[in-house]
Parts: sequence; structure tokens; C-alpha cells
Amino acid sequence: MTETPKEVRVRFAPSPTGRLHIGGARTAIYNWAFARANGGKFILRIEDTDPERSTEENTQVILRAMRWLGLDWDEGPEVGGPYGPYTQMQRMDTYTEALEQLKAAGAAYPCFCTKEELDAKREAAKAEQGGYDGYDRTCRSLDPEVAAARIAAGEPHVWRLAVPENHGPIEFDDAAFGHCSFPGDFVDDLILVRTDGSPTYNFACVVDDSNMKITHVVRGADHLNNTPKQILIYEALGKPIPQFAHLSMILGADGQKLSKRHGATSVEEYRDRGYLPDTMVNFLALLGWSLDGETTIIPRDMLCEKFSLDRITKKNAVFDETKLDWMNGEYIKTMGAAAFVDAIAPFMIEAGFVTAEDIAARHEWYEKLYPILAERVKRFSEVPEKIAFMFDGAKVTLDEKSVQKNLLKEGCRADEVLREVRAIMADESIEWACDPLQDTVGTLAEKLELKNKFVFQPVRVAVTGTQVSPPLFECIEMMKREDIVARIDYTLATVFGDEQ
Ligand code: GLU
Repeated sequence: MTETPKEVRVRFAPSPTGRLHIGGARTAIYNWAFARANGGKFILRIEDTDPERSTEENTQVILRAMRWLGLDWDEGPEVGGPYGPYTQMQRMDTYTEALEQLKAAGAAYPCFCTKEELDAKREAAKAEQGGYDGYDRTCRSLDPEVAAARIAAGEPHVWRLAVPENHGPIEFDDAAFGHCSFPGDFVDDLILVRTDGSPTYNFACVVDDSNMKITHVVRGADHLNNTPKQILIYEALGKPIPQFAHLSMILGADGQKLSKRHGATSVEEYRDRGYLPDTMVNFLALLGWSLDGETTIIPRDMLCEKFSLDRITKKNAVFDETKLDWMNGEYIKTMGAAAFVDAIAPFMIEAGFVTAEDIAARHEWYEKLYPILAERVKRFSEVPEKIAFMFDGAKVTLDEKSVQKNLLKEGCRADEVLREVRAIMADESIEWACDPLQDTVGTLAEKLELKNKFVFQPVRVAVTGTQVSPPLFECIEMMKREDIVARIDYTLATVFGDEQ
């Protein structure tokens, strides 16, 4: 008889002590993609047992960032599921129950050592060569009746795991780090439950992972040293140990661990700088995993089909902003006009020259920006500056340097050019569209015996205010005839003194 393969159940377990950072987002993506690739379940669990640093606001920020990235969870906050609640502070009874089980089995004992006593012992151990600075098990040998009486008298105490004496090496096969072996005495009698009754991270994590039937624990390599501790807790509880995969560090371009010093570190900061969620998912997926070592554009549906733990590398990954920009540019090129407008809208509204109402009312007009900009921007935040001139009606703000270089340069005859162009722009018999306008203006080069650039650059400056702009006639087509004529008139008047 063949055994039915176990359903893959993975989780992302952020502590709501801050925003969703790049490293956390990558962990979430790996778990999500692994669940999807295996038809399993992706669980979101909030680890909020640190009351000082956890806030509901941070939880909301994390959920929002997950949604923005498009990482949907099958079980978790706001979704529910058969193993809920999915917030640790609401699961206290489960930790109590697990502790009771360990107490009954003699695998946990109360410890009354004060912080001062422990600190003093640790200092002494450090001073002594080869001294043991783990917990020295003072309370492990207390008479249970004496311990019970001290508890009954209200003496503060923690609960520790009674690590089996002479435990052999603690071993596991990590999907990224390979075979890992820690000496049996690597773990001291660690604390499971603190004086205030709250569970420690290692204890709560194991109780949850086991109660939630997690099959694979995929998390940052900063937890690698916690894994032997957690294995001892699984053993004490008599629960199956999941498969582990630890993810290497993400470094900045300078080879140092990615941190605030490198600029943006939270997912929202990348959203606000104008990256697409698709880009972020693709880019972060490649920080420590590869499909075949070469493919760089891996859309989310391909990721969800192909992701596997065996292609995770233990080599640290480098966060390369240039590659991120390139990749975002690639996604922009294929996203389509309608989605593009929705993506640039917040940036243009923020810049103050358009309103949400206008975008909604004239979506199609805005969609014409897509062919103009799709190949030219890497981030949506670059858009407002590039096209602000189009929203100024009859007004143009002339850039002094551009005027000097393109209108007033010795022998460039920009005044003549602009007078001719004005006549073309005012000529209602010419269709108001990019090609006819551009072709007609183009004939001036021959007529005036000027190089093309001496015809087109003055128009660019008069219309946009500067010598660098997105494709000029595509932009002109989107603007109004009378505004273009008015801008040329204004330039002729202010730069060349023409009477209006
Ligand atoms: N709450 C832990 C963290 O944010 C989770 C670690 C784990 O996945 O076990 O680092």
C-alpha cells in the first residue's frame, strides 16, 4: 500500500515589531511559492509575544505589505482556518497545555535563580578559562516538593527544559545548509516560559508549528542556532520534526548585511519608490534561489509552478539595485497601458498636477502615456517629472540653459524656425496627430536648409521648457492645439521680443 503524501504546510511567522523588511518578504515569498508549487497550504502566523515591541499597527502594516506583494495566505489573520487563532497572544492556552505535558513527563522544571545570580555566574564563567556560561542546572535538582512550595508561596520562577543528560549530537538535514550537526551540550536547559508566564520564542514556535501541522520550516539563517533548541523541544513533546530550510543573508552592494544604511529596507519603501509588486516578488525570489541559474524574468505563476527547496543556495545573496531597476523596467514594458496608468496615478496625484477624478474620467487619454513612457522609465516615481510640462496648459517654464543652448546659439536661427512652426501648429488643415505634425515640421529642415536638430530642438524647448523630453510629437498630440501655439508665442515674445 502506498502512503498518501503529506500535504505541504508552511508558514511565515513575522513578529510585528516593525515593518515587513526585504529579508522577511523573501522568506514569505519562498514559503508562499513552495506551498503553491506543491498544492499545499501557506499559513501566516503573527508572533506577538514580545509585548514591548509588538503592536497592532505593525501587524496591519505587515498584512498590507503582504497583500500588496500578492502573497495570499490560506490560513491566518483575517482569513481564519482550522488551526487558529493565528496570533500567538491568543494561543496562550496551547502553550500552557504543552508546558503541563512537559511537566508531567518530567521534561520541564521550575527555576528560581534570579537575574543577578545568573549574571554573576556567567561573568565568573567567562573569566575562567573554558568556563561553561550556559545555565548550570542549579534548580534542576531541587526537591519537587520544595519547588512546589516555593511556587505556592509566590516566588518568581521560570520553566526550563530538562535537556536529557548525555544527549548525542543534535542533527538535521537542512534543505539549504545540508547536514547540520550540533554537539549535544550545545543547548543548555533553555527557558520555555518566563516569570510573567509568557512563552519564549523557541517554545511558542515549536508548539505552534507542531499544532499547526507545519511540514517545512523555511526561515532566515539567523535562526539556524535556534533549530537545535527547537529540535530538543520537539523531542520532549514527542512530536515529529519538520524539514528545515534556512535562508542565507541578504547583503548590500558593499558586502555588508543589508540594513538601513543601504537605503530602503521595507517593502513599502520600495512600493513608494515606484516598483511593481511583480518585480519585487521576482527579484526577491532570486536572492538565494534560482530556476536554472540563468533565467531572470520569472513571473509569479512560473514561480508558483517551479519553486523548489533544492535550488536554494546557502551562499549569501547581494541586493543589486541596478538589477532591480532593470527588472522593473522589463515588467513595465509588458504590463499594459491600463495597469500602467493605475500604477503611476498615485505618483502624479502626489506631485499635485492631476486629480484622481480626472484620471478616472479620462483613463483612455492617460493610457496614451504608456507607449511614450514604457521604454523610458524604470520606476513610477520618475514619471511626474518627465511629463509635468504636459499639464501646464498654455504655460511653459523655460529652462535658462536650454534656451541658451538651443534658441540663442550663434547661427541657429531658432526665431525663424519657431515662427514657421507656429504657423504649422495653427494650421487647422493639418490633422492634430503625431505623424502629420512631425512630418510637416520635418520639411522645414530642407526649406530653411538647417539640420534636423536645429528644427526640432527649438520646438522641444518652446513646448516642454527643456531640451530633454519624452518623444516630442507624441506628447504634442496629447496636448491642445491652442496651448502649443500659445507656448510658442510666449517663447517668441520672451526670448526674441516678438509682439504678440
Ligand atoms: N518570529 C520569528 C521572526 O520574525 C519567526 C522565526 C521563524 O520563522 O521561526 O524572526
